[in-house]
Amino acid sequence: MKCPECDGEIPLPKDAIEGEIVTCPDCGTSFELYKKEDGRFDIRSIQVVGEDWGE
Ligand SMILES: [Zn+2]
Repeated sequence: MKCPECDGEIPLPKDAIEGEIVTCPDCGTSFELYKKEDGRFDIRSIQVVGEDWGE
């Protein structure tokens, strides 16, 4: 799995499940695993919600 941020290789666990969080060992960015329509896994950015830094 290629990291969209740094093009590094993100290892996928053999027993990967949808919704699992994987982290790129190169840049430290975390992604969420999801299943595409063809049944293969892909990753997407995690949408951070609920973080309120008190503007
Ligand atoms: Zn990366």
